[in-house]
Amino acid sequence: MSRILLFLEHTENRRLLSEWLAMRYEVLLSNSEVQSGHAVPLLDEAFDLCIIDGPTLDNLWEWVRAKKKAEQPVFLPFLLITPRPDVKLMTRHLWQSIDDLVTKPIEKMELQARVEILLRSRQLSLELKTANELKSRFVSMVSHEFRNPLNIISVSAQLLERSSEQWSQEKQSEFLQRIQTASRKMAKMLDDILLIGKAEVGQQNFNPAPHNLTKFCSELVAEIQLGTSNAHTIVFVSQEEYANAYVDENLLRHILSNLLSNAIKYSPQGSIVHFELAFQAGEVVFQIKDEGIGIPLEDQKRLFESFHRATNVGNIPGTGLGLAIVKQSVDLHSGKIAVTSKVGVGTTFKVTLPC
Ligand code: ATP
Ligand code: MG
Repeated sequence: MSRILLFLEHTENRRLLSEWLAMRYEVLLSNSEVQSGHAVPLLDEAFDLCIIDGPTLDNLWEWVRAKKKAEQPVFLPFLLITPRPDVKLMTRHLWQSIDDLVTKPIEKMELQARVEILLRSRQLSLELKTANELKSRFVSMVSHEFRNPLNIISVSAQLLERSSEQWSQEKQSEFLQRIQTASRKMAKMLDDILLIGKAEVGQQNFNPAPHNLTKFCSELVAEIQLGTSNAHTIVFVSQEEYANAYVDENLLRHILSNLLSNAIKYSPQGSIVHFELAFQAGEVVFQIKDEGIGIPLEDQKRLFESFHRATNVGNIPGTGLGLAIVKQSVDLHSGKIAVTSKVGVGTTFKVTLPC
């Protein structure tokens, strides 16, 4: 709910206006006081719009300017309420501090429209800021994560080209292998980026069909286990031998392969990853538990945001897209995902899907 800060000297006007606004918004009331020669509000809480009258603006214009500047690039609107004759008396510096005005006597519909327009502008500027942050994170991820495989491809290709005769057949195929692995990694990153993009514009498909989950999970585990060169062991346990559920196979693959590959990636070699499949009243529950580095509490809140990586990843590579894809795939199933984790002890992800 949007928060509106009210700064009106006239107590009766203030009461009437706050009662009326409180039907749609959260209203904060404040007075000001003078501190070291400058007027400041008594209340110091975040707000989305400030409605202020002429005398208060006269006192507080420095604070208004500072507040707007501190919020940049997000737009923090100030709406002035003033008697019509006073509009002519307003000085330029006061004009520059406010974003709109309503003249007294207040016409409620007009005030409502102006409040809505200002709040919508603020909302749009907040969304723009989020989009810009996402863009910056994307640029930094791409420049960081793509550089490594690109370097591998470039160096291996140069070595092969310059002195291919001097390399044994075995060495040559090792270089080719490295090129292939690095290209696959880049292709996977591009696929993830496209997938996230598709989901953000609502183009991700959801095609549920009946599947034998025990079989599906066992095959997936075998596939992933093959790629881990046995440095980790995945122990898969299913409550039932043959259990049909209505799921989207493609999305379920995204969910489980990302969670399992994270469990492996963020755990020490030789450790065990426990993967459990269970069924309860109309739901299927997947639980993936590792004995890895864990996730700090602060990072757990932002885990499902695109490009977000926890502070304790060190040199472990990653784009921060896997869990965002997992979350979107779970949401498309109208399912739930929960995490419990302790740094240095391990992490458990629990996904519950209706089936
Ligand atoms: P990728 O896109 O290649 O999967 P990633 O693994 O960094 O990259 P996510 O899978 O989205 O990205 O995970 C986000 C972050 O959550 C990780 O960077 C890591 O900090 C943390 N994380 C996820 N799973 C685990 C886990 N099992 N143990 C510890 N940290 C984890
Ligand atoms: Mg991952």
